[in-house]
Amino acid sequence: MRDFKSSPSFSHHRKKSKAPLILSILAIGIAGGSFWLMSSEESEHDVITTDNNSQTITVPLTLPPQRSLQSSDIKQSNQTEPASEEKQSTPSTTWKQYTIASGDSLSKVFDKLNLSHKDMNALLTNKTSKKHFKVLNIGEIFEYSLSDSGQLALVRYDLSPTKTQHIHFTDHELIFKTTTRETHTRIVKTSATISSSLSLAGQEAGLSNKQTMNIANIFGWDIDFALDIRKGDHFNAVIEETMLSEDDTVIESNILAAQFTNHGKTFRAIRYTDPKGNTAYYTPDGKSLKRAFLRSPVKFARVSSRFNLKRKHPVLNKIRAHKGVDYAARSGTAIRAAGAGKIIHRGRKGGYGRTVVLKHGSQYSTLYAHMSNYKRGLKHGSKVRQGDIIGYVGQSGLATGPHLHYEFRVNGVHKDPLRVKLPQAKPIKKQYLNDFLKTSEPLLAKLELLDQNEQNQLLASNP
Ligand SMILES: [Zn+2]
Repeated sequence: MRDFKSSPSFSHHRKKSKAPLILSILAIGIAGGSFWLMSSEESEHDVITTDNNSQTITVPLTLPPQRSLQSSDIKQSNQTEPASEEKQSTPSTTWKQYTIASGDSLSKVFDKLNLSHKDMNALLTNKTSKKHFKVLNIGEIFEYSLSDSGQLALVRYDLSPTKTQHIHFTDHELIFKTTTRETHTRIVKTSATISSSLSLAGQEAGLSNKQTMNIANIFGWDIDFALDIRKGDHFNAVIEETMLSEDDTVIESNILAAQFTNHGKTFRAIRYTDPKGNTAYYTPDGKSLKRAFLRSPVKFARVSSRFNLKRKHPVLNKIRAHKGVDYAARSGTAIRAAGAGKIIHRGRKGGYGRTVVLKHGSQYSTLYAHMSNYKRGLKHGSKVRQGDIIGYVGQSGLATGPHLHYEFRVNGVHKDPLRVKLPQAKPIKKQYLNDFLKTSEPLLAKLELLDQNEQNQLLASNP
């Protein structure tokens, strides 16, 4: 008989249906920020404007593992079983819970709970339930109910934040039923003006850190959030939150549209998922907000030497053009493909040491030198996506210390990677443009309305 040992991993940590999530109370409506809540079928009459400093809402600080919910999922929720199984069974079912402890195997758990091994074997041999029970994680909860005669009658566990698997034990077989928790969505509109930092402005607008980071990521291609943010910059966002109807726990949060004004210049972004399920952010006319290339192939690195055609070489000590940019970074720091492309060189290359060269379409190529190591599994001819790790910072070849030497060529000519105008990533596909415009129109109207409200507030406070 197979016996399954518990493991200390929390990767399959089961969330109880009413598990107390970590909640943070966020004050909203603070000076500079304003906050509107609407139901999913919003109309102008549903707008609740909170205009005082005392109102609070609860927003989960940490979201449960993200499922990629499509909007169609949300609409379909619970249609399969309109009368919730859980509600039906609640009056007669008394659920018991056992928390998996260190050293527990399913056999030990069944012994401790005085349950029959026949039922355990049924769980471990059934192809649906064995997936769940083959690994027990410490802290996970085994939830079950007993019949009047003390036999195992029911077991349940969560498949996702919204789906629960119920297993009914009969004399001959296991009966499986899945129930879906009802969810609803709401649209949250928010805006804030930056007085000291983006994160503070985000807090004032009632956003979680993650949501604020998402806004920075969306506009990070146009705005350098480390250097360019000014006092008086402001943003608006329209956010869709999916919540469990039973306790309003937010299980998914997406920025549908956002607008950021930086130093007087305004950028807008609309989230769009095409019929094939690809999601990205676009400008109102359907251009990508992304560039085809990352500005820097290493994160959080310092530029230690710029593009300079008359530089004195630090090792050779003579004038030699520096046709790239150097990023000082710790040895082993990941180097990422600046753009999607194909590896056309992977190997030693004279003073460059261990080097990777990528070709991106017909015009562009990028070069990454002085690597300590290449990313395993990649070879000449391999295709990479933008942001994929291709190697690690080192000082192979002619180098005085660990750094990445990065070159950017357009039609074979070296360009300054810090200044070259980076081409836009691909715009929305033509066949989806109409659908996109239909999606974006109401969202842009909401952004516009937020702007007007902000203007009115300014007028009201400075008559
Ligand atoms: Zn260099």
